[in-house]
Amino acid sequence: MSLVEVRNLTKIFDLAESSFGSSRSGEVRAVDDVSLDIQQGETLGLVGESGSGKSTLGRLILRLIEPTSGSIFFDGVDLTTASNSQLRRLRRDMQIIFQDPFGSLDPRYRVEDVIAEPLMLHRNVARENEGRDARRQRVRELLRSVGMDESAMPRYAHEFSGGQRQRIGIARALALRPKFIVADEPVSALDVSVGAQIVNLLQQLQRDFGLTYLFISHSMPVVRYLSTRIAVMYRGKIVEIGPTEQITRQPQHDYTRKLLAATPEMAIT
Ligand code: ADP
Ligand code: MG
Repeated sequence: MSLVEVRNLTKIFDLAESSFGSSRSGEVRAVDDVSLDIQQGETLGLVGESGSGKSTLGRLILRLIEPTSGSIFFDGVDLTTASNSQLRRLRRDMQIIFQDPFGSLDPRYRVEDVIAEPLMLHRNVARENEGRDARRQRVRELLRSVGMDESAMPRYAHEFSGGQRQRIGIARALALRPKFIVADEPVSALDVSVGAQIVNLLQQLQRDFGLTYLFISHSMPVVRYLSTRIAVMYRGKIVEIGPTEQITRQPQHDYTRKLLAATPEMAIT
């Protein structure tokens, strides 16, 4: 069953209007007529070089940015025409994990507040999350599910290593019990061994909670390690999509061959 259906999705950035300033003109077709499905419970790996449109596609699917044209269905609902209240409800089911989860957060936030924030924002729609004690209990559970414990709660994000910070970011993303997570280069800033631990954690959480992932990376070895299927993105287009076995053993597109050749077998376990 498809959890996500993307149809003819296009995003054009008008450079004159963007924050890049007026010295550049014209437009960038960051996502160009992309169609794909993501099956319930799978990990779809999205791989491509920097600037190929991966993050833009991930953000479009979550409706964090407006598409220029095309549609996105989540759980059968068209996100491009959904009402605000429908979107608000669906947003709990869709979360994002970033490369650096704390880049945009106030460093004065305690870990407890970072993880509890989504619960606070949605507390009126989730009765179970009302009350400070229940919320703290939930934060404890979430920390345990990412391999940490309550001793982290009063501390600040900057006191933790990159790998631990990513675990805290994952705990926050899990707070509202989502069905679908876009992981946008979640291990790209980490050492290989720490990244491997995070990848294994994501797989464990997928089994425990029945999660569906769109896993974005520029690294073919990481993507092939954990993906059910792989979509290869090049200049805004999906040039090839299929089961991991098929993409890695019988690549059809030159660009896929290039990505495979540039990244020999890596020991990620
Ligand atoms: P990737 O994640 O694969 O590195 P992105 O989706 O970030 O690629 O970017 C795809 C293209 O869209 C790039 O050319 C980038 O410069 C451009 N782009 C991304 N976001 C914006 C924006 N807000 N305004 C203008 N151009 C953008
Ligand atoms: Mg990106």
